[in-house]
Amino acid sequence: MSNSNNWPSWLPLREPLKPMSPYGAPQVVANAQLNTNENPFAPSAALVAAITKRVAEVSVTLNRYPDRDSIALRAGLAKYITAQTGVSFDIANLWAANGSNEIIQSIFLAFGRESALGFTPSYSMHPLIAKVTSVNWLDGKRRDDHSLDVAVATQQVLTAKPTLTFITTPNNPTGSVVRISEIVELAVATASVGGLLVVDEAYAEFSSEVSAVTLIAQYPNVIVIRTMSKAFAFAGARLGYLIADPAVIDALQLVRLPYHLSAITQAVAEVALSFSGELLAGVDALVAQREIVQAGLAKLGLTITPSAANFLLFGGFSQPADQIWQKLLDRGILIRDVGLLGQLRVTIGTAAENQAFLSALTEVLAEGDK
Ligand SMILES: *Cc1c(COP(=O)(O)O)cnc(C)c1O
Repeated sequence: MSNSNNWPSWLPLREPLKPMSPYGAPQVVANAQLNTNENPFAPSAALVAAITKRVAEVSVTLNRYPDRDSIALRAGLAKYITAQTGVSFDIANLWAANGSNEIIQSIFLAFGRESALGFTPSYSMHPLIAKVTSVNWLDGKRRDDHSLDVAVATQQVLTAKPTLTFITTPNNPTGSVVRISEIVELAVATASVGGLLVVDEAYAEFSSEVSAVTLIAQYPNVIVIRTMSKAFAFAGARLGYLIADPAVIDALQLVRLPYHLSAITQAVAEVALSFSGELLAGVDALVAQREIVQAGLAKLGLTITPSAANFLLFGGFSQPADQIWQKLLDRGILIRDVGLLGQLRVTIGTAAENQAFLSALTEVLAEGDK
């Protein structure tokens, strides 16, 4: 059911949706699940116990609607970002939703006017949500090695005058970083055309680059998106958030559904924040593992894009990438074919999963003589 010919004629589907197919990273069972940039570390016993206790407390109030404004959670997120970046924020600067995908959707609903600009390859949900909300998506250009040429990007902003410009840093699927000085250039350019610069920092905790939240006071058109899905190992809980000027937060309240964030979600996200020390130690372990996997791939003679995230994009095979992907899956290793010619993306897993991936890949490459 994925193209216009298949929809029944009685179904009054909106025109732009007809050629679309649903978001679909394969959810297949594998010994090592290294395909969606999840964090491989399950919540600790102490975190599980704390979540269980809070859920029991909240459960006796579930006959009531939750706090519509998520005040306690937003205060906790503001405190966390303030501690992380050294820039002071409070609840007026914070918004939270069911995953950063809902945050992105709210941004489009509030600010998606004529067009939105992003630089491919990047996070596929930005153009997808643009389509769903009927905003014209403009595919900006990168260099052949997928790095962002900020002078070219700035020129595209000035020419296209989009109300929304998306930058993902560290970028997905490449892992590469846009420097804070380059973000400043884009903040100035987007402001000059009356647009917002949306910086998706889903992987910021894995990177040592300065966060774009440091720019918000001077450039109020900068919006920063974060998530608990990656560094906080909390993808199943669905909690994404945004840091911005208070005017942005006020505008987002116009498009949010009433009581969108359940009392359970708010409570467990608050508990996760109180375990941030433990969770960030897991980030350090993954960064160390990333170095090990990168060295392993280099030893196999492959080319790797330098990554500041919890995944690596690699290539330089003599077999087609989709065949390598399948042969790895046959060996119980699920990674991601992101649709870039001759490249594959692997999420950093536990030490054991990473070793299993590297030895399976060694076999596969030897089979095809690379
Ligand atoms: C994984 C990811 C997200 C996270 O989405 P959630 O809805 O918070 O799980 C957002 N942006 C990028 C670039 C990502 O890779």
